[in-house]
Amino acid sequence: MSVVTRFAPSPTGMLHLGGARTALFNWLYARHHGGSFRLRLEDTDRKRSTPEAIAAIIDGLTWLGLDWDGEIVRQSEQRQRHADVAHDLLATGGAYRCYCTPEELEAMRAEARAAGRAALYDGRWRDRDPAEAPPGIDPVIRFRAPQEGETLISDLVQRDIKIDNTALDDMVLLRADGTPTYMLSVVVDDHDMGITHAIRGDDHLTNAFRQTQLFRALGWEPPAYAHIPLIHGPSGAKLSKRHGAVAVGAYAELGILPAAMRNALLRLGWSHGDDEIIDTGQAIAWFDLDAVNRGAARFDMEKLQSLNGHYIRESADAALLADVEQRLAATYSLAAKDEGRRCIMALLPEAKARAKTLVELADNLAFLVCDRPLQMTSKAARLLGDEGSEARRRLGRLQAALQDIAAWSEADLEAAVRGFAEDEGVGLGAIAQPLRAALTGAHASPGIFAVMAALGREETLARLADAGGQGRSDR
Ligand code: GLU
Repeated sequence: MSVVTRFAPSPTGMLHLGGARTALFNWLYARHHGGSFRLRLEDTDRKRSTPEAIAAIIDGLTWLGLDWDGEIVRQSEQRQRHADVAHDLLATGGAYRCYCTPEELEAMRAEARAAGRAALYDGRWRDRDPAEAPPGIDPVIRFRAPQEGETLISDLVQRDIKIDNTALDDMVLLRADGTPTYMLSVVVDDHDMGITHAIRGDDHLTNAFRQTQLFRALGWEPPAYAHIPLIHGPSGAKLSKRHGAVAVGAYAELGILPAAMRNALLRLGWSHGDDEIIDTGQAIAWFDLDAVNRGAARFDMEKLQSLNGHYIRESADAALLADVEQRLAATYSLAAKDEGRRCIMALLPEAKARAKTLVELADNLAFLVCDRPLQMTSKAARLLGDEGSEARRRLGRLQAALQDIAAWSEADLEAAVRGFAEDEGVGLGAIAQPLRAALTGAHASPGIFAVMAALGREETLARLADAGGQGRSDR
């Protein structure tokens, strides 16, 4: 039997980390077994299921690279089918009409609470003659749940778990207005889509008992369930915005690569020995459910960033260039034209070795395509000193000394700057730091000679002139 998994989000908001991880596990399980991964939008809550939320889920999955097979199933479009199944069950006695009024149900609950019992429906219409139905009440259809024995789930993560059937009441399948409930819809859709494995958050574990009962009553085989533990923050507390962004879309903006995100999500509750870096190909080859941990997974933003640094280093320069350009254009309204692009490409190999996010990478390269005169950070301004300072005058002399250098290569520039320092009778540091400030507007940057080589002769000399007090008249 071929494996069919599904991701079945209720599109009521963003795609959160927990949902993304659920999608990833279902996707990996299907890909590992050569099966299919389906996407089903559980959009029956018409008020909360907005087009924006649907788009956020689709965008999030697309960004993560989790491609689904076949058409997207919209649960709302299966309503008639769900209702038909409820009526079939009614016809065979597996369900019954309940004519309780809301007031009656409220009184039943209050009584149970007062007696310290769980607020369950007491089954009062289970065997009652519908001829006794009060006038003017549209009935709901309830499931005739088994009242004796136990329901067992052989969960692939949580192992065997049983519940006493007396703990569950007769749930509503069709509301008085004829609309199907969530519980009915999930069961019918999982059956109709041929789902073999339902991997989802363990907040759905209790639903699995009712769903299993309903599957059986319908004469269908339930999927194998795998309930995965929820995600907590690094301290063990429930994951919240404090621990970093919670919506997946926000990570793209923070400069996280999808490959790093997949790797980090994979490690949330799944392990393969001590391996931390597991790329997607490896994950598909290794993924199975027996290595899912039963304890709550902990999300750690620092870990994600360190993984991201790895995947940035592994990325092709051309791919990073496209991203850097986009970010520079968005953040600084800088268009990296051909020359700027050449500068960025020249420094990318060095800059990508240090960046933990694409935002950081773009920030570290922004100085290459900034307009003159550069904006100085306060530290850079201090390195240069006031107008006429010794550091500035020295940069002016360096500018003159570099005019005639033949080859504008990193090695030649290094030799020239070192020679200049010697002539000036100062250490290299006394020159390199103000030089860095003049060329980058900051006190830290990639290697200064690489910076000079990347900027090119004209731009380097112009920036030196800006700082050294020469050539200002030409602006
Ligand atoms: N729609 C449910 C949710 O978003 C998931 C249902 C399921 O996986 O069975 O939590």
